Order: sequence, then structure tokens, then C-alpha cells
Amino acid sequence: MSANDKRVSLEALVSLCKRRGFIYPASEIYGGINGFWDYGPLGVQLKNNIRDDWWRHMVESPPLDENGEPLQIVGLDSSIIQNPKAWVASGHVGGFNDPMVDCKACKARFRADQIDDYACPRKPSKKPGEYDQCKLTEPREFNLMFETYVGAIKDDDSRAYLRPETAQGIFLNYKNILDTTRVKIPFGVAQIGKAFRNEVTPRNFVFRSREFEQMEMEWFCHPDEALKWYAFWKAERMRWWRGLGIDESNLRFRDHEPDELAHYSDACVDVEYLYPFTAPNFGELEGLAHRGCFDLTQHQEHSGQKLEYIDQETNERYMPNVIEPAAGLTRGVLVILCEAYAEEWVPKDGSDGGPQPAAPGANPPDGYEARTVMKFAPKLAPIKVAVFPLLKNKPELVQKSRDVFNELRQHWPCFFDQTGAIGRRYRRQDEIGTPFGVTIDFESLEDNTVTLRDRDTMQQERVAIRELSARVSAGLQA
Ligand code: ATP
Repeated sequence: MSANDKRVSLEALVSLCKRRGFIYPASEIYGGINGFWDYGPLGVQLKNNIRDDWWRHMVESPPLDENGEPLQIVGLDSSIIQNPKAWVASGHVGGFNDPMVDCKACKARFRADQIDDYACPRKPSKKPGEYDQCKLTEPREFNLMFETYVGAIKDDDSRAYLRPETAQGIFLNYKNILDTTRVKIPFGVAQIGKAFRNEVTPRNFVFRSREFEQMEMEWFCHPDEALKWYAFWKAERMRWWRGLGIDESNLRFRDHEPDELAHYSDACVDVEYLYPFTAPNFGELEGLAHRGCFDLTQHQEHSGQKLEYIDQETNERYMPNVIEPAAGLTRGVLVILCEAYAEEWVPKDGSDGGPQPAAPGANPPDGYEARTVMKFAPKLAPIKVAVFPLLKNKPELVQKSRDVFNELRQHWPCFFDQTGAIGRRYRRQDEIGTPFGVTIDFESLEDNTVTLRDRDTMQQERVAIRELSARVSAGLQA
């Protein structure tokens, strides 16, 4: 089945995320705050799993170069608030703007460059400006940076900014890293962290929010090799996203047209995903930019510090070029949630025939019931194994289950559930994407075996307790 056939509605996803503790609206008891979200117990686990996989692929076990040598990439965690001069040099104070229009009739606000993506609030069948009562203003430039003040006095001298991207912290530490580590060009610096943009209209759940997380890496290289590395990272980034279990047909590249490129950029491409709210179009998930030597040159000029690279072997001096893969971590969480969500019909008695895709809007046939299942790649699933005593009022079953649970939870995040009918307990775990369920029954007391249930196929097999960890470990790596 193509992933396109089972596209989730955003409403169903938002509702599941709230109901099961993945993502909540921020400050909900006060009516929320537009563009801010809180990641609940399962959401933070999922986000951390994506984050850790990126970090492993970038910093701990980076890709190999053409000679089979691992690339040099080091990590960084820079401050969210930096000297405001850095944001003048980077161009954000002067130019990090979106064009905004207001409707004087209904008081709604839109991004002028994305007006076709909105519906008129008063006449949703029309775009803003198409309904005869709309009164749109001329577009005005709106700076997206959040301002704050450092210290006790609030004036122009104490004004500072919450970073709108993590990348600049890397450029600010480029010299420190060269001076204090043994990296040589080509090398990369990777960083994951929060970024803040006062978006004109945050929307589509966590896709466009005002506080979000990015995973960015600046790859510093010789200008003559920049295009080679651009092609390298383009292939590498797509490979990584696919490795998270995203269906190929839901991902694509979009090369930027020459008129979209910043004046300093030689090439830029987005990795795009087929989101439920953009379909049949795709929307951005990650940007990969060839930034030339723009950032280092700007910071050299504005700081007065020499940022040129001196090749120790050839004595060549040059300003490195930079290739920048800039991915959204929280947007990545949304993609993984969209991708994992499935509605299926499953046999009620767990017998013949496995799950089959549910026909939208129809009721399951006789003998079947509907289930929602999050088919996360096992490495991303927030909880890996759930343990169930068949009956909660049999102390010997509960005790044995606790023993199994205590063994498994030394290796993975596990969940113990003894409440409700076993079928309902399975469904609850399916809905949060737990790859394996282990049930302890009366047979277990006699022969030390348990039932191991697979989330996707729903097949159950008998496994000896002493082999359980190895069996689960193999399944999680599959
Ligand atoms: P867009 O065109 O969607 O506004 P952008 O091109 O401004 O994004 P970049 O500055 O290239 O985005 O940032 C890199 C990545 O950070 C994006 O690909 C996206 O995944 C993520 N990102 C950017 N803005 C937001 C936001 N407001 N909310 C969530 N993620 C974001």
C-alpha cells in the first residue's frame, strides 16, 4: 500500500496527540497561546529519539568520505541569547522579515507571500481578498525576531534577541573550535536546540510554531570542493530521513529557483514531505544551503576578528565555504507522527487474517473491529515493550510479570499494564506505537514461556523468558 492511501487527517492526529500525551497546547488551562506547544511524556520521548538518531549520524558515528574515513564533525551547544551585534552581522536584524497583510474588515492577518494557502475567515470558500467585503492592507515587512532586554534597564542598548536559528551560534564558535580542537578542513559543527520566530500566522499544528527545535550542521570546506560536498550532503540527508521509516513516495527534493536564492548562495534545496494539509503539494522539512563564505565574512567584518583558514600544509589562506543542512526537529516529529498513523480493521478474536487497511468512513465488516496504530520505526517508538499479566487478581501472575518487566526495563523504556481486558490493553499500546507486548499467563508459571505479540502483524509467539531480551533486541533492530 502506498503511504499516500492512508493519509491521516490533521484533526485525527492532533486529537490522538492530546489524548495519549504526545503534544498538548501550551498554557492550555489559560486558554493556550498561539504558536506554542508542550511535548508530553510520549512526545518528549519520541522527539529525543529522533534527536539522538540525528546526533549519532552526525557527531558520534558520522558518514564516511570517499576513502572510507569517517567525516570530522564535532558538537556544540551555544547560547540562545548572543551579542545582538551577531544578528546585525548575520543580516537577521535588517532582513529577517516576512511580508504581512491585514484585513481591516475581519482583523485577520496573513503572510502576503502565502496568501493562497489561507481561506477567508468570513467566506472560507474564497481566498483572502477575493470576497467582496475583504479590505486587505498593502503588504508590510514584519521582523520575526523575538526581542528581550538583558539586565535591569530596558533601553536600546540592552535590547537582545532570542535566536531565530541555531546556525549562527556555530559561526560564532568557528574560531574557538579551530583553536581548541584538532579539526581541519573539511569539518562540520553540529548543534540541536530551540529557535524562536515570531511567525505572522503559526499554523498546522507544530509545523509552523513560534518556538521550535532545529538540528543544524555547518560543513566548512574549501571553496573548490563546495559543490561536491553539497551533492554529498543532499544524498546523505535524504538517506537519513528515509532511514527513519518514511515512505519514499512521501519525500522529495525541491531545488530552489535562481530567483529564490539569497545573493550569496550558489544552490539551495529543500527536503519536502507530503503533509496532510499541503497534499497534493509538498511542504518543507529541511533546507540544505550552499552558503558560500557569506557568514564567516560578515562576522569577520563586524567583529574585526580574522576568521580566515590557514592550511598548515600548503600555507594557503582562504575563507571556507559552508554547506548547511538545517532540519526542523519538531517538524520532524510531525512528519514521523503523520507517517506512523494508521487506521486498520482487525479480527476481533485475534484469529485468522491479520490487520487490513480500514476503508475511510466505513464500518468494519462482521467479526472485525477498528484499531488505530502508530507504526513507528522501532528505534523511534517512545515505549519499546509493554508487559501484561493476563489477570490482575492472580498474585503469582502479577509477580512473575513484575519480574519480567524489571528485567526488560533495564534495557528499554517499558510499560506495565494490568488493568482491563487484554484486548483493550493491546489496543492502548497499538495507539502509542509500542512495538512489542509480552503477556504472562498460567502456562508461564509452568514452563517459563510468555506470549510475545508484534504490533504490526499482531502475530503472537511463545518465547522462553530467558530468550526474551535477545528476541526483543533483534526485533527492535529489524
Ligand atoms: P519556512 O519556509 O517553512 O518558513 P524556512 O525556509 O524559513 O522555513 P529555515 O530557516 O531553512 O526555514 O529553517 C530550517 C528548518 O527549520 C525548516 O526546514 C523547518 O523544518 C524548521 N522551521 C523553520 N521555521 C519553523 C517554524 N516556524 N516552526 C517549526 N519549524 C520551523
